[in-house]
Amino acid sequence: MMIYPWQHDLWNHMSAARERLPHALLLQGRPGIGKLDFAEALAAALLCEHPAQDGHACGQCDSCNWNAQGNHPDLRVLTPDDGGQGGDEDDAEAKPGKKSQVISIAQVRELAEFLNLSSHRARVRLVLLHPAEALNAAAANALLKMLEEPPPGVLFILVTHQPQRLLPTIRSRCNKMDMPFPERAQAESWLATQGISSASERLTYVGGAPLLALRMEEDAEKRLGDLHKELGHGARMDPFFAASLCAKEGIPATLEALQKWTHDLVSARLAGEVRYHMRQAPSLQALANGIDLSRLLDFQRVLHEARRTAQHPLNAELQVESLMIQYTQLFSTVRAS
Ligand SMILES: [Zn+2]
Repeated sequence: MMIYPWQHDLWNHMSAARERLPHALLLQGRPGIGKLDFAEALAAALLCEHPAQDGHACGQCDSCNWNAQGNHPDLRVLTPDDGGQGGDEDDAEAKPGKKSQVISIAQVRELAEFLNLSSHRARVRLVLLHPAEALNAAAANALLKMLEEPPPGVLFILVTHQPQRLLPTIRSRCNKMDMPFPERAQAESWLATQGISSASERLTYVGGAPLLALRMEEDAEKRLGDLHKELGHGARMDPFFAASLCAKEGIPATLEALQKWTHDLVSARLAGEVRYHMRQAPSLQALANGIDLSRLLDFQRVLHEARRTAQHPLNAELQVESLMIQYTQLFSTVRAS
């Protein structure tokens, strides 16, 4: 069970308050900052029979052993049935192509029995629910009833990066905790300790979230680099070759890459600066200078619309090829102005 350097202050605060925790916590914050890891470390610490001085679980007692095996009798973890392979809370985004994920009312109902039991060992029983926005409407209502009449000695820990998608009545029943987002320097040095050599570039590309940067695979990073090189060719790009570079990424990742590239084209055109592609800044600027702005903004809207409907594309390959063709056409008929 690990927490991250940017979470230490919050951890100390929580450890000091462990005797008077509320009955429900909502850990909220951006994707890729380690919310779920924090929640799991907190759960382990609360269940541990001999927590260490710094508040962390000892890792050796019976309770910690059960926890490590994933079958602690005083802990229930609710996560979408077809997901739940560990990792951080945003796996659904990181691994496109997985089925849509829902926490069902059946899963919440199964909690009722657990809540009525008395604790096996620890003084608390815990329910860890992630990602909380995966609750469907019926499940959310069932959970709400439990939160309204919390059994003694039970702590609910909900983890979410989309709190606005939760029932307001659920939010109001929880003590909300804004999970810290690391400073840039801290995120970079942490990534360096994880053996990531291109920490700065990756962080820039993912918008600063260290776990997203960590999870960029080297293969994917290289393919992305190849795609950027192609996009840099502007009108001379071969749209079919560019589309073939995206075949492994899946539609959501491809659209994200195109959106970020286009964002930087717009930004270069309007403000002379880029946000995601520092290394390609000069070629982006050159491309942007020769582009028809209204076409570019149209293309940005097309991408946005495609992203909204990207979950079930009829033909992913065709869609990507079509977008690549539209991209090359941005540059093809610039009228003199
Ligand atoms: Zn322990």
